[in-house]
Amino acid sequence: MFDSLSDRLGGVFDRLKGRGALSEADVRAAMREVRIALLEADVALPVARDFVENVTEQAVGQQVLKSVTPGQQVVKIVNDALVAMLGAEAVELNLAGTPPNVIMMVGLQGSGKTTTTAKIAKRLTEKDRKKVMMASLDVNRPAAQEQLAVLGTQTEVATLPIVQGQTPVDIAKRALQAAKLQGFDVVLLDTAGRLHVDQQLMNEMKAVADVSEPEEILLVVDALTGQDAVNVAQNFTEQVPLSGVVLTRMDGDARGGAALSMRAVTGKPIKFVGTGEKLDGLEQFHPERVAGRILGMGDVVSLVERAAETVEKDEAEAFAKKMAKGQFDMNDLRTQLQQMQRMGGLGALAGMLPGMKKAQAAMAQSNMDDKVLVHMDAMIGSMTREERSKPALLNAKRKIRIAKGSGTTVQEVNKLLKMHKEMSTAMKRIKKMGGLKGLMKMFG
Ligand code: GDP
Repeated sequence: MFDSLSDRLGGVFDRLKGRGALSEADVRAAMREVRIALLEADVALPVARDFVENVTEQAVGQQVLKSVTPGQQVVKIVNDALVAMLGAEAVELNLAGTPPNVIMMVGLQGSGKTTTTAKIAKRLTEKDRKKVMMASLDVNRPAAQEQLAVLGTQTEVATLPIVQGQTPVDIAKRALQAAKLQGFDVVLLDTAGRLHVDQQLMNEMKAVADVSEPEEILLVVDALTGQDAVNVAQNFTEQVPLSGVVLTRMDGDARGGAALSMRAVTGKPIKFVGTGEKLDGLEQFHPERVAGRILGMGDVVSLVERAAETVEKDEAEAFAKKMAKGQFDMNDLRTQLQQMQRMGGLGALAGMLPGMKKAQAAMAQSNMDDKVLVHMDAMIGSMTREERSKPALLNAKRKIRIAKGSGTTVQEVNKLLKMHKEMSTAMKRIKKMGGLKGLMKMFG
């Protein structure tokens, strides 16, 4: 799994990593190779395209950190984008409802649904100490119910006694009732599969979901089917409110595309992956670990993370020094804006300092959202060096020039200046109080 993708990407990045400087053309060339590698791994075309666009945009606009190479930085950007594509964080089963919590398993025939049902039951019993019952609702395939009973014996998990001639909805009702009476925490409903997605199957699933009100509806798909797995998932997503996906046969030689596209295409997290025929072959899906496995460059990623932290620390120290002197020009404001953008929040600095309330209010007034931050950055970018260090120079004519240069309005330029003034006044006040040391004293 992921081996050939990993090799391909490894080749691209090994060439980038060592280079001292990277031009935009270098990045674009590398990203073209990444795109081909993703497509060869069976990643859905729109997903691969979005991924590459997003990474290119970030990589080209990025300021290069001290102590790492641009290539290393690109590796980190790709890593983060991979993690995001895989769903960012591992998502646990939701079993927060009033017991018995129902987990409904759906999927095509042969996807590994029954095996996965038993694997999850075993995991919940052994790891989470839950009292679990399984019930097979598959009345079409001969011996499907017996298959689950056998797995129940193997895993020492209770199964609902088989009553011939019942409909799936009847069986679901009976399972719930039995589970309530006997104090089970979780009921796993293994629904019938089909060879293809068909309406009868969907209707049956909906009817079962209506009577059993599941906490989880997990779709089981076979990773070996690549693009098809994603198509099946998309079909199911449109029909039933899935809560997650289980990808089976991740131990096989699938190229990994299904795993990579699943989240983007369905919007649902991969909760588990099946890693073998045995009943302990089930793992929780961890996007970070999977991205790490694909890139195989964990050392580079942590190197860049450390470098970024150092830069933030350096910037903070330089800013503290200026503040102690009561200085605050447009360059400082820009640094602050960029930091806020990185922290993804408004007033992160302002809110922490006394005397900054007004500045914060000015920011809030300007309806500061991400777009505003970007505009402000563009306005400061359109100022000359002199203007940035002496904003008092900004007369009406200059303001018009800046508004034009940054694609904003004079009104917006005025708002920016007002905010700068408030912050600068606050800085002077801090200086009067004895600079940072005075501040510290105030905080005890
Ligand atoms: P169902 O028709 O969807 O219920 O599929 P089954 O659970 O009967 O599984 C079909 C076959 O796939 C069985 O032979 C399983 O042992 C096998 N299988 C299921 N999950 C995995 C897995 O994660 N890895 C491997 N290698 N085989 C699996």
